[in-house]
Amino acid sequence: MPTIHNVFNLLRCFARFKLGRPTPFYMTYEVTYRCNLRCKFCSVWRNGSKKELDFGQARRLIDKVAEVGVPVFNLSGGEPLLREDLEDLALYAQRRGMMTQLNTNGTLISRDRARKIAEVFDVVNVSLDGFEKTHDGIRGINGAFKKAVQGMKNLIKVKDTCTVGVASVLVKENFAELIPFFHEVKRWGGDFVCVLPVGGTEFFSNYSVSAKEITDFTEKLLAEKMKDHSFISPWENIIKLMPKFVRGEMPRICDAGKLYLALDSEGQISICPIFSRNDSYKIGSLLDSSLFEILHSKRAEQVFKLTKNCSCYALCTTAFSLMFRMSLPNLARETLRYYKLFT
Ligand code: SF4
Ligand code: SF4
Repeated sequence: MPTIHNVFNLLRCFARFKLGRPTPFYMTYEVTYRCNLRCKFCSVWRNGSKKELDFGQARRLIDKVAEVGVPVFNLSGGEPLLREDLEDLALYAQRRGMMTQLNTNGTLISRDRARKIAEVFDVVNVSLDGFEKTHDGIRGINGAFKKAVQGMKNLIKVKDTCTVGVASVLVKENFAELIPFFHEVKRWGGDFVCVLPVGGTEFFSNYSVSAKEITDFTEKLLAEKMKDHSFISPWENIIKLMPKFVRGEMPRICDAGKLYLALDSEGQISICPIFSRNDSYKIGSLLDSSLFEILHSKRAEQVFKLTKNCSCYALCTTAFSLMFRMSLPNLARETLRYYKLFT
């Protein structure tokens, strides 16, 4: 549940965006590029940087992110739980007034660790792409499903204010079983499911589903959303626009560097969470400068021009862009629905 401070920061971001002077809403920090899985669609485990910041450096960078009033701080990887100080970093970010979110493959959530994670994260996304055979096939390691489900259940057992759900990548191998799988997640006691529909970048293009398949899927997903708004977490309009995007009919929408940013394992800021490891999208090191200086640098100005040539459809980019284009009453209604305070 967000604190008053979180809500204030969110409203401040929203107001600034409407006034044409946006400040970042979401920062994802990829704390490590090490990973214990071998997902087919992922290049991180193949060629991610081996360098990481130590705890003191990471803490100073969190200070710099908090200074500009970023409301949502996401810790990601690689597999972030391979860092033993992850919970300390999250606690620090929380104390600096940010909502903390964790993206994890779920395989390292032991009972002991579950307690600490539940205390310092507001939201945990466990990546699960379907039932056992499908998930292990996509993730490249037999046994990954069982470990992730156990990890998620460990967390569900001890969580109090933390919301725990599943994030799925929608690919050819799983789209037929995702809805029944989401029902299973509900039976485990998961708070939500979200599905990263399609990429639109070379990152996902080999794994995306066709326009017809996505249309059928979105109809089913919308019907599920009508039954339980907060459990199907992507907002109605992002689900409805998925087929349009796949058919190439949706106007390009991108607020890279304005609403969302990424911080890589070495402390470099990228304007785009999807191309966080691509040097062309990097605009400076947060070790050397403040976030404000980096965002207003000449380099940033040049890199912003790059975004005119690409498009994507993702929860950490497009969904936020659509959210900030809503009216304040609609945003308030969707937020209240998300927290089950309104149906
Ligand atoms: S769990 Fe995440 S970082 Fe690890 S291989 Fe899979 S997608 Fe890549
Ligand atoms: S459209 Fe924007 S957010 Fe999406 S991949 Fe390109 S730069 Fe990133």
